[in-house]
Amino acid sequence: MTLPSFFGGFKVTLKQVLEPRVTHQYPKVKREKPPRLHGRHVLNRYEDGMEKCIGCELCAAVCPADCIYVRGADNPPDAPVSPGERYGFVYEINYLRCIHCDLCVEACPTEAITESKMFEFSFVNRADAIYTREELIVDDEGMPKKMPWEDWREGEDKHTSAWMRATSPSGAAAYEGEVQWSGELGYGVRPPEGGQSGKRDDEATGNISIRKVEARKIPRRAGGKVV
Ligand code: SF4
Ligand code: SF4
Repeated sequence: MTLPSFFGGFKVTLKQVLEPRVTHQYPKVKREKPPRLHGRHVLNRYEDGMEKCIGCELCAAVCPADCIYVRGADNPPDAPVSPGERYGFVYEINYLRCIHCDLCVEACPTEAITESKMFEFSFVNRADAIYTREELIVDDEGMPKKMPWEDWREGEDKHTSAWMRATSPSGAAAYEGEVQWSGELGYGVRPPEGGQSGKRDDEATGNISIRKVEARKIPRRAGGKVV
């Protein structure tokens, strides 16, 4: 090894010392998660509180792990649960099987099933691993219900539908960023996520590069660059 190449290696190391640190003391500290991360599911409701699930069972049909069980039922005429004729009377997801592929989210015609940003949950018995409709459905504020064995941190319960908003009809670029999704209880009609044309709203969708997020928390060191 020549002397210049020897010191050249130190140059690379010293340059990185000045960069913002991106490692964390996990699990004490969790870092910001990407907006499309596939975490624990939620069943969504419309702004008026009605449930979005119509019990069509498409999510159960497409699931490659066979972990969704849905039973539909006719809406009671006097007190309908969903705007459609039917609603999801029984809804279960078995998290001992789920691989978080999000095919159920893509298949759902009403944006009823989406995923939060929380994946830190574990169980000591099989019953806890099978989430019921009552556990999956968002509360009266539109927020996911939190089970005792789940580790929720700030913000992980707010971005529950970015994956659904990332798609466009037939994949046509002309429709990217065009609002084509329904409103959600507690949030209304969410804006397009980052990368979806000029209408992006990074603050609202949580789509900010991890280095920029870190730079806000960690004081910049002399010469450090934020990319
Ligand atoms: S994320 Fe994939 S494996 Fe999990 S319930 Fe949905 S379709 Fe099934
Ligand atoms: S979550 Fe969506 S796909 Fe699944 S049964 Fe309900 S409406 Fe149908």
